This record gives sequence, structure tokens and C-alpha cells, in this order.
Amino acid sequence: MQNRWNENEAKSYSRNPKGLRAYTSRLLGQEKDLVLQGGGNTSLKVDEMDKAGNTLPALFVKGSGWDLESIEETGFVTLSLDALLQMAQRTALSDSEMVQQQRLAMLDPQSPNPSVEAILHAIIPFRYVDHTHADAVLAIMNTKDGAEKIKEIYGDRYLIIPYVMPGFKLARKVYELTRNINWSRHKGIMLMNHGVFTFSDNARESYRRMIQIATKAEAHLEDQGAKISLAEPQAATPESLKQICQIVSDIRGLPVVINLDQSREAVGFSNHPELSKIATRGPLTPDHSIFAKRIPAILNNGFSQSIESYASEYQSYFERNANPELTRLDPAPRWAIWPGKGILSFGRDQSEAMAIADIARHTTKVIQLSEHLGDWKPLPESDIFEVEYWELEQAKLKKR
Ligand SMILES: [Zn+2]
Repeated sequence: MQNRWNENEAKSYSRNPKGLRAYTSRLLGQEKDLVLQGGGNTSLKVDEMDKAGNTLPALFVKGSGWDLESIEETGFVTLSLDALLQMAQRTALSDSEMVQQQRLAMLDPQSPNPSVEAILHAIIPFRYVDHTHADAVLAIMNTKDGAEKIKEIYGDRYLIIPYVMPGFKLARKVYELTRNINWSRHKGIMLMNHGVFTFSDNARESYRRMIQIATKAEAHLEDQGAKISLAEPQAATPESLKQICQIVSDIRGLPVVINLDQSREAVGFSNHPELSKIATRGPLTPDHSIFAKRIPAILNNGFSQSIESYASEYQSYFERNANPELTRLDPAPRWAIWPGKGILSFGRDQSEAMAIADIARHTTKVIQLSEHLGDWKPLPESDIFEVEYWELEQAKLKKR
């Protein structure tokens, strides 16, 4: 992975740490193999003046709803660092309480809500903290014995933390696990099945480590001979697309826009001999389920039958995992694999369909790479469900 740091551009922020924070965040955001659809977040610790004119330690962290690729200083939120650290000491806090408390800790109440990982950023005692969901690292994590593989590749200078639901629970877990560690011995945190944190008092170094980690994972995959298959597409008729679109719209309860990816990559995946096995194990990271649901439909039994059986399986998935207070979301697939033809994505508009196509492209690539390492083993469905039906994410989705 290319290190995009540009000395001349960085120089223009030499007296502006917040500008520099936004700059390296954009560098991370430009790399789609690191962050997708609002994933990933970054922060900086600064001294800030409150309304009474007192200087206090603060966390300048990505605001929710901003993409790293285009973030500016105004996309960040400044919060009292002490207030966040006090929250980390609580043994339990619901995520909506956490959001409320975080809002109270904001120095400017007009700012957007901070990232749900703000407390976790506060706990890490370095000025710059970078967090991504690097594809190549996830390809290694999401396998049998993923944690051992990560340890083997990166050594003991990285903390490996087993998967925990993002939000307060994750912040609390990291707080407990790091209370007595010597942070200076560590170069980053590997959150299993989720992503990577790097940190440093230097913006360039924190960014450099992230690129280095991703590059190392890419090199490992290449050494193992992991690659994706490519194939030429068969033609898809407009009538069949119309038919699929109608079936999905009926189940979703609104007219959907359909996008067919007929790239050689998409068709290569659609021809995989064990397609129905590997494509239905789960997503790359749990947060993708919010946009794209846990798994795609596979159109191998006639359009109606395949899509309807997807919907009834979604109903069973909901019943297996839901508590009585939850309301089921619509059971229509967000994407589908059409053997020989490619990958379809469905959205309420073109931009949603393209966002899902993006997730599908990265997911199908990582599944194939992981399969080369042994087997693709994403999180169990209960963990995915917890995020798909997470109150905070449902609220975000409504806002969009
Ligand atoms: Zn994350």
C-alpha cells in the first residue's frame, strides 16, 4: 500500500495540529482498502480553551456522519478528555447513555456527535490515534486461528484484542486490558474481526504505521499465493434485470434501483465452485451489515425462489437472535450473486446501490483471499445481528 504522505502539503500544517490531523485522515480515507462507507476514525489530543477561558486537555475526534476521505477540521468534535476518561471507569453504560454523556462532554454543543469510539481514542495515551478496517488485515483475522496468524505476522508489539461489540463495551474492554500495560512498548492494537488502531505523538508516524501494517498483511497474502479469480461475463438481459428488480422491490416495500457489476472480478467470484458455502458465512466487518445485511442472496434457483428463500431465511435469522422489543427490518437482500453474470446491488437510490456495490466488491475479494489461508471465518451471526440492530446504527440509518 502506498504511503501518500506529501512533505510539502504536510508543511502547510506545521503550526496547525488539527489541520494536520484532518490531512492524514484524508490520506487514510483515500485508500478504499482501509476504510469503506464511513468506517474508520481518527483523533488528536490537544489543549483547548473552554468558555470560561480555562485551558483543559481535550480530544479532537472524527464526528459521526463524516467520511475520512473528505474530512475537514469542521468534521471533528472537541470533547473534554477528562470527562471521557471518567466514562471509561464506569463498569456499565448503555450506548445511548454514552452518546448523551459524550454530548455533555463536548466543548461546542453545535458540533456533530462524536464517533462512537471516542472513549477508546481517549484511553490511548498518544496524541494521534488512527483507526481503520484494513481489508488485508481482516482477510487474515477472519480465518480459523486468525489471532495466532496475526501474532505470528506482527509479533508482540501489537496488542491483540478479541472481538467485542463496538461502542462502550469495546472501550471498557480496552480500558481493562490496558490499565497496567506499558504503552510505550506497543505500536498498535489489533481488534479481531474489526480493524486496527495505530498511535503516536507524531501524525506522520501514526499514519505510516497504519500503511505499514496493511502492506505487511498484503505481502503475507501474496506470499501465501492468495489471489482472486477473474472471468468474463455472460450477457444479462434487461428483462431479467427488470424481473429481479421487481421481486426485490416487492419484498423491500419500496422501488429499488439495481446495479449489475459485470467486472471480471465480480464474475470470477460468481463462478466460485463453493459459492453458496463461502458467500453465506458473513460480512467483512459487522458494521457492513447495517448497509448490506449479513449476507447476499444467491440466484441459483430461479429469481423468485432464490430471493423469497433469502427473505424467509432472514426472518428465521431475526427470530433466532432478536429480543421481544426489536422490530424486524425489511427482509430483502441488499446484494445478490448471479452465477456467471456478476454481482447485483440494490438501493433505494443510485447512491445507496453504489455504496453496497462497493461493500460487495471488497467483501468478495477478502473472502477469496481468506479462503487461501485456510478458511473464511467471519464472526458468528449473533455478533453481526447485535450490530445490525444496534440502536445507534438504526438511528443513523434513519437519518440517512
Ligand atoms: Zn471500527
